[in-house]
Amino acid sequence: MVDSVKSHARVVVIGGGIAGCSTLYHLTQLGWTDVALVERDELTSGSTWHAAAQVTQFGGNQTMIGLKRHSIDLYRELAKDTEHPFYYEITGGMRTAYTQDHIDTYQHYIGMAKSMGVEMEYISPKEIKERHPLLSTDKMLGAWWDPLDGYIDPSGITLALARKAREAGASVYRSNPVESITKKENGEFIVHTKNGDITCEKVVNATGYRVNEVGNMLGVEHPVTSMEHMYFLTDNLPELEALDFQVPIIRDPLDDFYSRQEKNGLLVGIYEQDCKTFGMDGIDPNFTRDLCPPDLDRCLDNMERIFERMPALQEAGIHTTVNGPITYTIDGAPLIGQIPGIENAYCAIGLRAGIGEGGGHGKILADLIVHGECEWDAWCVDPRRFTQYANTEHTTLKTIEDYQNEFHYHMPHEHRPASRLARTTPIYPVLDQKDAAWGVVNGWERTLFFKPTPDFVDEHSFRFTPTKDVVDKEIKAMTKNVGIMEVSGFNRFSIQGEGAADFLDGLTCSNIPKKVGKVSLCYLLNEHGHVLTEATLAKLDEDHFWYGSAAAAEWHDLDWLNKHKPDTVTITEMAASHTILVVAGPKSRELLQSLSPRCDWSKAAFPWLNAKEMTIGHAKVMAMTISFSGELAYELHVPNEQLYLAYKLINEAGEKFGLTQFGMYATESMRMEKGYLHWKADLIYERNPMESGIGFFVKMDKPSFIGKEPLAKMIAEGNKKQLATFVFECDIAPAHVGDSMYNGDKLVGTVTSGAYGHRVNKNIAYAFVEPEFAVVGTELKIEILGEMYPAVVTETCLYDPKNELVRG
Ligand SMILES: Cc1cc2nc3c(=O)[nH]c(=O)nc-3n(C[C@H](O)[C@H](O)[C@H](O)COP(=O)(O)OP(=O)(O)OC[C@H]3O[C@@H](n4cnc5c(N)ncnc54)[C@H](O)[C@@H]3O)c2cc1C
Repeated sequence: MVDSVKSHARVVVIGGGIAGCSTLYHLTQLGWTDVALVERDELTSGSTWHAAAQVTQFGGNQTMIGLKRHSIDLYRELAKDTEHPFYYEITGGMRTAYTQDHIDTYQHYIGMAKSMGVEMEYISPKEIKERHPLLSTDKMLGAWWDPLDGYIDPSGITLALARKAREAGASVYRSNPVESITKKENGEFIVHTKNGDITCEKVVNATGYRVNEVGNMLGVEHPVTSMEHMYFLTDNLPELEALDFQVPIIRDPLDDFYSRQEKNGLLVGIYEQDCKTFGMDGIDPNFTRDLCPPDLDRCLDNMERIFERMPALQEAGIHTTVNGPITYTIDGAPLIGQIPGIENAYCAIGLRAGIGEGGGHGKILADLIVHGECEWDAWCVDPRRFTQYANTEHTTLKTIEDYQNEFHYHMPHEHRPASRLARTTPIYPVLDQKDAAWGVVNGWERTLFFKPTPDFVDEHSFRFTPTKDVVDKEIKAMTKNVGIMEVSGFNRFSIQGEGAADFLDGLTCSNIPKKVGKVSLCYLLNEHGHVLTEATLAKLDEDHFWYGSAAAAEWHDLDWLNKHKPDTVTITEMAASHTILVVAGPKSRELLQSLSPRCDWSKAAFPWLNAKEMTIGHAKVMAMTISFSGELAYELHVPNEQLYLAYKLINEAGEKFGLTQFGMYATESMRMEKGYLHWKADLIYERNPMESGIGFFVKMDKPSFIGKEPLAKMIAEGNKKQLATFVFECDIAPAHVGDSMYNGDKLVGTVTSGAYGHRVNKNIAYAFVEPEFAVVGTELKIEILGEMYPAVVTETCLYDPKNELVRG
């Protein structure tokens, strides 16, 4: 006799692995106790039961470090329960370094972790050997050491989370598969399970490698692919038996393996190049609490090298091989948050390190469900960061690439080769022939810079590279005469219909353009008064606007707009139908005028911050007098069918004006000299607009806008942090996101953006610091790659602060 399910719950979580149980637990901790979890078999019967279950603090950004540290604190607390014991061993752990790039990467992350209250260190080969006597340190330069690295009983911690949730009032239904899901007219869901229907306000997909079985019930294909992943366990090793301590965990980027102690033997996990996807053509319904056949032959190449690295393994017997499915996404980070396009549907999927991170994933998701935001800006795990291009085939290619590079951190600006050309504009081949170096933004290929010779290589490094001089030349040429750059994939919506102006006015804390033909920069806040997004609004007609925002914000912003828009307003996506050509530099007006005899490009007729339909030869464009570079500049929004035409005509006419090409690196440098901000770097929902240095755009005298009341309260309380611009003397490297700022020995801030300013000849960083340190002239120190450099607060705008150039 099975328990029948309750008929209603505020939230139904589908899947009883670590992700589902952690979400359920955290919901109850926030006071949402009318919640239920539904599991098709027993709890932990997906990937969770067989994980190697390492729990670490190593992370590539502050949110990842924060969520991992949250897991550790939570697991340590739950492991104290003597009535329900489970093992949790903290042994310390290391990531080994073999190149200067490894060292730089680790030094950067160690510095960044400090601002999350997490202490890690860089250790020498001698210290490595002392801590792990079985390891050969041949070719090793050092290692990144995490004192809180360890491993846990994966089932024990998952059951503990479920038990605590149940004690708080949550329901858990086992042996009860979800068979379908219906969305009701009123926005609720009916989750149809084998043992009955549950109506709920919100639903969560946490179904591990079966993610798309449940995804399909909601009409979505999530960008998640599973890989087979193997580890083996050895018999007891006399070398370990002789020690009076456990050896730490190792993660090794040279031989692509990890290893930890398991009793008196070793557990060794391998990321083999000859890897294998799992379940691409469907998964046997009976595959539960199950494993794939062991296949260590795939790993022989790694094993040979691992046995040299740990010679004690050469004499050891292997008693067990575990080969199980593990899920991956396009960028390796999980998908935690709202499912794109489906209000009140959420997911916690694509977890490749779900045991270590699971505590943090559950916290983030519960925070998002209950509060709509989390303590740390969670964009790095937001499911909306991938859009329509992210189909299963695309995801699979990226997944394989990511699996093969498990311990190879991305270097700054590194865009790897798998699944490229997912989104290109009609002039991609033309720019490619001009030796464009390409990066990817929201699937779109975008020019980073133009290579001086076809064989020029952009060395990806935390340090300055020869590319710096190339960018310098692009900027100098453009600021002397005129330059052109394609901005592919820039997010744009046409927003039109009765009430469009009122709708947009209520969404933003800024003034929307009042007159037809005007353009304004506007900021949107969330319900808590924190910064949600930045939009350029162009008023094309009464109740007709173009809304422009970061390429990556496409689905994020669309969800927000759709959630609030009246039925009379329609939103049309334009990112794929139009592309921007930026023409910038002192001769830009002259050049465009020469192509456009019957349009007036003069300052009087077409001043700064205006939008107008213009012709470029016989191509029709929407031109806007907007400048992200700080030079006189025009954004030409060109329908893709005429993009080649417009580009060709400008290039031909441009010869006479000294037209040159430039890319994203140049733009990044120039925008920092101007004090312009980047979404999800400088503009994050951890901060309000006053703290983010965009108070000028906040109009508190507007009758209402989303977030106004909480913002008023925060203004009255005063800023907790303040974004400030710093210049600093460091010849070897720019600042990187996450670098720490110090006043003496005290950590007082964190870098959000860094680039070299070529027009002002200064190394520039933006950082959130404690407000008393944001005063112009304040001297602090910035830690870059483990070294301290003096840094001083400057005015926000370092180049043409009166905007005389942009006004032309
Ligand atoms: C060999 C190996 C080693 C690993 N080592 C580590 C490690 O050292 N550290 C680490 O952090 N991670 C590790 N992982 C990864 C880790 O195991 C996963 O990230 C984690 O277990 C995923 O948890 P989950 O809750 O997302 O999915 P799962 O554990 O797969 O849980 C999903 C649950 O959903 C249920 N479900 C599916 N469909 C339905 C349905 N229709 N209705 C109801 N329920 C449904 C399933 O039965 C299952 O119980 C390892 C993985 C492998 C394969």
